[in-house]
Amino acid sequence: MKALDELTFDNRFARLGDAFSTHVLPEPLDEPRLVVASNAAMALLDLDPAVAETPVFAELFSGHTLWAEAEPRAMVYSGHQFGGYTPQLGDGRGLLLGEVYNAAGEHWDLHLKGAGMTPYSRMGDGRAVLRSSIREFLASEALHALGIPSSRALCVIGSSTPVWREKQERGAMVLRLAPSHIRFGHFEYFYYTKKPEQQAELAKHVLNLHYPECREQPEPYLAMFREIVERNAEMIAKWQAYGFCHGVMNTDNMSILGITFDFGPFAFLDDFDAHFICNHSDHEGRYSFSNQVPIGQWNLSALAQALTPFISVDALKEALGLYLPLYQAHYLDLMRRRLGLTTAEDDDQKLVEQLLKLMQNSGVDYTLFFRRLGDESAALAVARLRDDFVDLAGFDAWAELYKARVARDGDYSEEQRRTRMHAVNPLYILRNYLAQNAIAAAESGDYSEVRRLHEVLSKPFEEQAGMEQYAQRPPDWGKHLEISCSS
Ligand code: AMP
Ligand code: MG
Repeated sequence: MKALDELTFDNRFARLGDAFSTHVLPEPLDEPRLVVASNAAMALLDLDPAVAETPVFAELFSGHTLWAEAEPRAMVYSGHQFGGYTPQLGDGRGLLLGEVYNAAGEHWDLHLKGAGMTPYSRMGDGRAVLRSSIREFLASEALHALGIPSSRALCVIGSSTPVWREKQERGAMVLRLAPSHIRFGHFEYFYYTKKPEQQAELAKHVLNLHYPECREQPEPYLAMFREIVERNAEMIAKWQAYGFCHGVMNTDNMSILGITFDFGPFAFLDDFDAHFICNHSDHEGRYSFSNQVPIGQWNLSALAQALTPFISVDALKEALGLYLPLYQAHYLDLMRRRLGLTTAEDDDQKLVEQLLKLMQNSGVDYTLFFRRLGDESAALAVARLRDDFVDLAGFDAWAELYKARVARDGDYSEEQRRTRMHAVNPLYILRNYLAQNAIAAAESGDYSEVRRLHEVLSKPFEEQAGMEQYAQRPPDWGKHLEISCSS
């Protein structure tokens, strides 16, 4: 295990030069203090978890000091925001500090969010508040624990620096980790600014470093785009299966790696609601829960447009055509497993759709329903869950189909069923109100709740003693919390 000063840097993106990013030093926060750190993320850098408690850790990740080998850069990109093209965006409040590689040879970008103004700050102050930093931290690590590809978070550092939002809050920084911070919007930027040389350099960079296996294919860039389509289809299938709503699926928030990225007003569903809009600035519901599926394809089309210098339009269209069938296959596979099924039948899609409709009409808790369904035999479980539904006749009809389907699926014990289902149906999910409780405590200087919640969510499938309060439906106040875009 390594000490903080033993990290090994190799800043590959910085070496692309000034057309791609600008050197900017972080602007330190006052009186930095550790709010929370992720031991699992520390392990990605081979860091000894004990270093998180040292003063130099808080100084490094609040902009006071830097490694000699770090090269802090603000990246330039653009993107489609809510469907309209914005010609220039970029890291307005975050800096790529450098790239570190671990003993296993994996590279990790260290990205410090909330690090102050950059040439891309536009009207913003370059800051992030404690509230949004905690939300990003918790979501990154919780998604990862659920098996949903995501950027990771090393730590949140709080401070006494005042930051003005609707009211005065405190500045914080979150250290984000990802194998790359390149977004769809990077490609769009060089395409729409008509910089073919830089665009070719970017494409080569992504291919060589992040999709090296595609170089073996007859058309490497096409193979790479196909892989991006496949990864997005799988990621979004997992969002839908677990009730994750991203909230701002602008193309500048879509990772070229197919990982969940750039968290804003995200939410996990409490009650199942296909039309749920977690971002209260999203008046049209462009990024509503069920719209995430077609928007995934829309975003990939925007990327495809930016890749037309490298790939024929016909080939791009064909690759885009893979998205929906792949999405559906992944989604159905996951939902079958959530229902405890091990085999596939043609009508399974219908079985899932009927259930979701019933859940929607009755406002059934999405996470707890599946968890309880696996607690006992299908017959006992549906009998117990019946009370949660308003349309009893509708539920009974579904339950009969389900029990018959389970009987056809195979002969296994209640114990086998429980083990298998609990391994895919989390008991704990990052509910907005749980995050809100942790944030309220942290804002008054008590970080124990954030740390506990993070701990619970790092093992979402395992029932943890004394943690019953994290496996409850939200209280009324916690159901419709308003979360806005950038904070
Ligand atoms: P987001 O909605 O967080 O993905 O941000 C969209 C764009 O606005 C990105 O270019 C961000 O860097 C920038 N941005 C968001 N918040 C701030 C802020 N407080 N200060 C400067 N830039 C910001
Ligand atoms: Mg963003």
